[in-house]
Amino acid sequence: MTLPDGRRYNKMDLFTEDGRGMTAMQAARKALSEVFGYGSFRPGQEEIVAAILSGRDVMAVMPTGAGKSLCYQIPALVLPGITLVVSPLISLMRDQVSALIHNGVRAAYLNSSLTARQHALALDNARRGVYKIIYVAPERLLTDSFLAFAQQAQIAQVVVDEAHCVSQWGQDFRPGYLDIEPFIRALPVRPRVSAFTATATQTVRKDVVRLIALERPYEITTGFDRPNLYFEVRRGGNRDAELLRFLRERRGQSGIVYCGTRKGVEEVARMLVENGVDAVGYHAGMGDSERALAQEDFVSDRAPVIVATNAFGMGIDKSNVSFVVHYNMPKDLESYYQEAGRAGRDGEDAVCCLLYQPSDVRLNTFLIEHAQENSQFDEETKQIVTERAKERLKQMTFYASGSGCLRARILGYFGEKPEAPHCGNCSSCLAQSRERDVTREAGKIVSGVMALQGKYGKGLAAKVLAGAKDERIRARGLDKLSVFGCLKEEGEDNIREMIDELIAYEVLETTDGQYPLLKPGPRAREALLGDEPIRMTLHDRGETAREKRVSMKPVVDKGLFGRLAALRRRIAEEQHVPPFIIFTNATLRDMAVKRPRNRSEMLRVDGVGEGKMERYGIAFLREIEKYISD
Ligand code: ADP
Ligand code: MG
Repeated sequence: MTLPDGRRYNKMDLFTEDGRGMTAMQAARKALSEVFGYGSFRPGQEEIVAAILSGRDVMAVMPTGAGKSLCYQIPALVLPGITLVVSPLISLMRDQVSALIHNGVRAAYLNSSLTARQHALALDNARRGVYKIIYVAPERLLTDSFLAFAQQAQIAQVVVDEAHCVSQWGQDFRPGYLDIEPFIRALPVRPRVSAFTATATQTVRKDVVRLIALERPYEITTGFDRPNLYFEVRRGGNRDAELLRFLRERRGQSGIVYCGTRKGVEEVARMLVENGVDAVGYHAGMGDSERALAQEDFVSDRAPVIVATNAFGMGIDKSNVSFVVHYNMPKDLESYYQEAGRAGRDGEDAVCCLLYQPSDVRLNTFLIEHAQENSQFDEETKQIVTERAKERLKQMTFYASGSGCLRARILGYFGEKPEAPHCGNCSSCLAQSRERDVTREAGKIVSGVMALQGKYGKGLAAKVLAGAKDERIRARGLDKLSVFGCLKEEGEDNIREMIDELIAYEVLETTDGQYPLLKPGPRAREALLGDEPIRMTLHDRGETAREKRVSMKPVVDKGLFGRLAALRRRIAEEQHVPPFIIFTNATLRDMAVKRPRNRSEMLRVDGVGEGKMERYGIAFLREIEKYISD
C-alpha cells in the first residue's frame, strides 16, 4: 500500500515530540478534537484511553457503534512507537485505514489483499517508522518477515479488535487469533495489550482474557443501550406488504434488510426491485465480484437498500444506516442485536424492525438441530451446543412474541439492568402507553363543548380545555368559563386527538362547511353521565427519552443538508471512497446547523478535525456560503 501524498503526516508527532509539556491525557484530548474533530468522549472512552496511556492492559466490551476504535487510536497517536491492530476482516481494515488517512493519520494494513510487492513495500515503510498505526491480519503475525519487523520495531501497543474471534464459544471463532498470544510473547519488550469486542457473554469474555493472556486488565463493559435506536416488532400479516410499507415511509434513506436464507435474499430483492425500490442483493453464494459490487453500491449510497444474509455486515463500517429490517427472526439475540446495531452508528435516530412469524421458530429449530451434523465435536459436546442454541432461540422468540419493553428485554439478556421498565422508544412501549380509559376526560370534553355553545371549531375547543394562553380566547372572554383549563394536564395535542375519537364515537359532531363547528353529538349524554366506560388509543406524549432528545435537537435546514450531501458524494466518487469516510451524516447535520463561515468555526463542527479541515474544509465552506447567498 502506497502512502498517499505523504504531505501532512508528520503533524501527528505533535503529540509525542512537540507536545512534551502536556500530560498524556491532555494530548489525548487534543487529539480527540484536532485529529478526529469530536468535542467530547463517549461513555467509557476516556477511562479506556487513560488506562492504556498509563500502561495497563484493557479488556473492553462495548456495543457496536459505541466508538471502540477511538479508544485505541488516540493512545496510538499519543504514545511513542507503533500500534498494531489485529483485525479479522480485510474490508474492516481497509475502511479503518482509509478513515484514519483522511484524518491525517499515517496508517496502513497488511493482509492477503496485498500483492507480495505491496506487502514488502508496506513493511519497508513500517520499518522506517512511516506508520503510527498498522492493521494486520492474525495469520500474518507469526510469519518470518512480520515477526522480524516487529521484533526490531518499537511496538507501543497491540490491539485485538473483535476479540471474541479468539473464543470457540464466540460466533466467529478464528483460529488465527490463537497466534496473538505467542506473537506477543516473542516480542523483546511486552507492549500494552488491549482487547475490544461487542460480545458480552461471560464465557467469551473469560476466554478472551485467558487466550490473549491479558495481564490484570482494566476491564470495562459500557452500557449496551443504544438510545438512538427505535425497536419494533411487526407480527403476522404479509411480510412483503409490511416491508414495502416500511420502505415507502423511508424513501431516500439507507438501510439493510436481513433475510434468513440465500433464497429469501433473492426473492425479496426481486420483489423490491419489481416494486420500484433501488435494492441490491448480497449473500455468500454470489460470485466475489458480484458481491463486491453490491456492497460497493450500498456503501457508496448508490443503492439505498441492501437485502442480505448475515454474511453481510461485520466488515461494513457504513455509519449512515437509518434502518435495519429483519425479514426473518434470527436464531438468537446476540445475532439480532449485532445486526440491528448496524443502524444509527452515526448517532442519528434509526429504526430496527423485526418482521416476525411463528414459522421462523420452526425454521431456526430445524437449522439448530442440523447444525452439528458435520462438526468435529464429540456427541456430548454436540448435545450441549445444540441445547444452548435452543435456549438462545427461546429467548429470541420471547423478544419477538412477548409484550414487554423490547429494550428492557435486550438489555436484560446482556445482563444489564435497564434504567426504567419502559423505555418509551420501542413498539411495545408505544402500544401499551396508548390504550387508556378516558371516560372522565370525555365527560369534561362534552361539558366544555356545551359551554362553547357550538360557536367554535375543534382547535379552539382544545385550547380552551387545555387552558391555553391565546389572544382569541381572552378577547372572547372564554378564559372566564369554568371549563377553561379543566384538562390542563392532558395538553392540547392529546385533547385534540380525544376530540377526533369522540367524533368517531358520535359523542361529538361537527357541522359541514369550510369552518366546521364543534357541537355535542347523539351520544353526548351517555358520555356526560359516564356510565359507559370509554377507552381510547392515544399517541404517547409522555416525556419519553426519545421525545426529550428530539426536542433538544436543533432544526436542520434540509436544503443546505442536501447540498452538503451532494458535495460529499461528488468528492467521494472522485476519491473512490464511501461518502461517510469524508464526513458522516451527523457531521453534515451539525455543519448545516452551525453554518460555519470560516476555518475556526468549521473546526467547531462535530467530526471536523484539522486533517479533514485541510482536505475538505474550504470546499464545504464555499458550498455553505453559496447556499446562503443564493
Ligand atoms: P465500534 O467499533 O464500537 O462499533 P466505531 O469505532 O466504528 O464503533 O465508531 C462508530 C462511530 O462513532 C464512528 O463513526 C465514529 O467516528 C463515531 N465516534 C466515535 N467516538 C466518538 C465521539 N467521542 N464523538 C462522536 N462520534 C464518535
Ligand atoms: Mg469496531
